[in-house]
Amino acid sequence: MISQRHLGKLCPYAKDCPVYQEDLKIEKVSSFLIKNVFCNRGYKGWKNCERFKLADEGQEIPVTATPYKQR
Ligand code: SF4
Repeated sequence: MISQRHLGKLCPYAKDCPVYQEDLKIEKVSSFLIKNVFCNRGYKGWKNCERFKLADEGQEIPVTATPYKQR
């Protein structure tokens, strides 16, 4: 579990994250917005990201997974 002192910081998975690296684009949502809502927001942003949740639980992340819940 990542502590609250990481608030306002970059996601620890950003370096290898295809969403953050902009290799995986999300339809109708800009990378700028994604980063502000999830990646650069500290734990309060990361915890809403599906990719972060899977990574944090040590689960495999599907290649096409986005920060949003799959429908
Ligand atoms: S918050 Fe989610 S999308 Fe952003 S870098 Fe972390 S795992 Fe990737």
